[in-house]
Amino acid sequence: MRIDVVTIFPDYLAPLREALLGKAIDRGLLEVAVHDLRGWTHDVHKAVDDSPYGGGPGMVMKPQVWGDALDAVCASPGAGAPQDTDTPPRLVVPTPSGRPFTQAVAEEYAEEPWLVFACGRYEGIDQRVIDDAARRMPVDEVSIGDYVLVGGEVAVMVIVEAVARLLPGVLGNPASAKQDSFSASLSGLLEGPSYTRPEVWRDLAVPDVLRSGNHAAIERWRRDTALERTFARRPELLDDAELDAADRAVLDR
Ligand code: SAM
Repeated sequence: MRIDVVTIFPDYLAPLREALLGKAIDRGLLEVAVHDLRGWTHDVHKAVDDSPYGGGPGMVMKPQVWGDALDAVCASPGAGAPQDTDTPPRLVVPTPSGRPFTQAVAEEYAEEPWLVFACGRYEGIDQRVIDDAARRMPVDEVSIGDYVLVGGEVAVMVIVEAVARLLPGVLGNPASAKQDSFSASLSGLLEGPSYTRPEVWRDLAVPDVLRSGNHAAIERWRRDTALERTFARRPELLDDAELDAADRAVLDR
């Protein structure tokens, strides 16, 4: 997969090259290019923002600069993107007013060969940039949660990390992503608690069943704790979960 990020703070994205994602880049599973938006400014001050039409506080990112940046970035695929330049990338624009970013969206993005991210700052990007890009490529405005950050860079890191760990070969054990919270194999539930050695720590013991060697009982315990945790913390997730009679009995307790 090829990922391009356009930002006024390229150094902010440095952690994308750390740890698991760094290894994925080194192994050629992922290609990441970060572009400085100011490279597409035309004035001596390298201005990327201007005051909003209609008045009000804050500044809005200028359409000319963003338009030129996206024209250039979306026309020049790296080695990891489809080399047929007629195939545009999917443009992802983080914004608090976007479609909620969920595990299902991460799975959708993991199927894409090429994603371009546009990091907003200030009051955001002039809407015409998004409307114009949508005439040529799929565009998603996405939110990572119901709160407001100062810029899109952290949102991009969240999204890229969630997507990259789903790419084939990135996780050491691909089975672990399949059993995570929100995964289809967990019916979209939260995962239950996990334990490792020692058996007793600060007088707290690991649940007996996990040391029993009884795989069926362990599976049932994992399912039960996932159901209980989801019921306690995120009951709305149960609305869409596929539950059988045994699951319902747990919830009726
Ligand atoms: N005026 C905007 C609003 O009220 O919707 C908020 C702009 S915010 C201060 C600046 C930038 O941070 C946004 O353009 C976006 O890139 C990013 N951002 C802030 N919160 C976000 C969130 N919850 N999800 C995704 N991106 C976010």
